[in-house]
Amino acid sequence: MVVKASILNVLEYDFCIGCGACTYPQNSPFEIVETEIGTFKAKLKESVSSNDFEDYSLICPFSNESANEDQIGQLLFSQIEGIKQHSKTGYYLDLYAGHVSIEGFRERGSSGGSVSWLIDTLFKLNEIDHVVHVKESNTGNLFEYMISSSSDEARTAAKSKYYPISLADILPIIRDLEGKTLFIGIPCFIKSLRLLSSQYPEISNRIKYTAGLVCGHLKSKFFAYNFAWQLDILPKEITKIDFRHSKPNQSKASLYYVKVNALKNNLPIEKVGLNKSFFGFQWGQGFFKYKACDYCDDVFAETADICFGDAWIKPYVSDPKGDNIVITRNKRLSEIVEDSVKKGDLKFDNVSLEEILKSQDAGLRHRREGTQVRTSVLIKKGLWFPQKRQFEDTMSSTRNQKRIYLFREWMSRQSEVHFKKAIELRDYGYFKRRMRWIVFYYENILYKTKWNKLKRLLRIN
Ligand SMILES: Cc1cc2nc3c(=O)[nH]c(=O)nc-3n(C[C@H](O)[C@H](O)[C@H](O)COP(=O)(O)OP(=O)(O)OC[C@H]3O[C@@H](n4cnc5c(N)ncnc54)[C@H](O)[C@@H]3O)c2cc1C
Ligand code: SF4
Ligand code: SF4
Repeated sequence: MVVKASILNVLEYDFCIGCGACTYPQNSPFEIVETEIGTFKAKLKESVSSNDFEDYSLICPFSNESANEDQIGQLLFSQIEGIKQHSKTGYYLDLYAGHVSIEGFRERGSSGGSVSWLIDTLFKLNEIDHVVHVKESNTGNLFEYMISSSSDEARTAAKSKYYPISLADILPIIRDLEGKTLFIGIPCFIKSLRLLSSQYPEISNRIKYTAGLVCGHLKSKFFAYNFAWQLDILPKEITKIDFRHSKPNQSKASLYYVKVNALKNNLPIEKVGLNKSFFGFQWGQGFFKYKACDYCDDVFAETADICFGDAWIKPYVSDPKGDNIVITRNKRLSEIVEDSVKKGDLKFDNVSLEEILKSQDAGLRHRREGTQVRTSVLIKKGLWFPQKRQFEDTMSSTRNQKRIYLFREWMSRQSEVHFKKAIELRDYGYFKRRMRWIVFYYENILYKTKWNKLKRLLRIN
């Protein structure tokens, strides 16, 4: 029996995240295309006749033949003196929460500005010549992977981009770069880069450091369109979007704004709205989420040398200016962080592993426990799925929690279908009417949000 290389199953069953790693090998049969729901996905080129796909499975983060995060982490980090490991974070040296004290970084950044600080510091210390990260673009996509070769060039890239991206076009450029490079990415993209590096020395030779962003999930282009449309801006009119806009009068780090720039009737306009005032903003509802994200168990970029996230824990969460959580897995980067803490450039506190885990509590539950629940359904249906790591501490969900995990995935699919239809009909109301009842069921029947609020109120009074 010929066993099908599992990268083909990744495509057939829609587990592709569009990273573009499979397009890198010479004469690759894969290309990255934009789908009708605003995601990037790999596709087999029409001219392909070969069926020799095994090598491609080795570099795909969702295939069953590629190394998993534990195996990659062990190779990269297990020999580092003093390093520890936890099933939820992967390897770690030092754990911090805090922000950059040097003026400008925190103001420009999504949370504490620490990623931009790292880039700036590595340039200043001559540790890197380039950084590969996601910046604003005007090539038809609002954002894409680009290279900055100085602090000044990199500065404009701050803020999180909840928008589809791919490495397909940048990988040949990385290969031809001269000098040392820092690569920034969400966990699955760092994993793709590590898998590629294991097969292609010309890639691994270029990358000196990798910095990962904690990741809840990735959004399709519809996420940006959904904000814009509620601000009376049509998808084709958007010129810029800031998903994490902050204002001086902001009361909490989690209450940030979304700013959209557009060209309407040939006139430039700018509109801003508070995140929670938008329909479909809530991350737990998972609107426009890639399917792959519901089958991914890496929250803390376990294969990156350093990882940054939002400090959604007390006391940091009450500071409207924003703070990071940080995990280091590289001695030199740990040293650089420590020196900067001593100099006062960073206001970082050492925090416990429990605090780090607490900061991503909901995400970890959905991605660890939730993934097991979701895959158990696929097993029962006899469908293919990407094999995930087994975690002993993740099978305690109640029946209602299991329903929530499954419902969220279904809700994501519904959001794509109805938003696509709304675009065709040029009627945002269509989308809202269709999704409103789904959200109502999720919030009030499954989650019992209003009932729980009432119970809390009664207890207080
Ligand atoms: C899709 C996505 C989901 C996330 N989910 C969570 C979450 O659930 N919980 C959590 O705590 N944090 C999450 N984060 C991380 C968080 O939003 C911040 O990016 C992180 O805390 C760093 O903030 P900062 O102020 O230090 O970074 P900044 O100083 O603002 O710098 C951000 C840097 O990251 C780069 N960048 C931005 N977006 C991307 C991208 N998509 N791919 C690669 N590089 C990028 C920029 O180019 C810039 O260099 C997510 C980020 C993304 C992009
Ligand atoms: S996840 Fe990445 S490597 Fe795998 S098929 Fe998709 S684009 Fe290719
Ligand atoms: S949740 Fe996982 S698969 Fe989805 S974007 Fe984040 S790291 Fe990638």
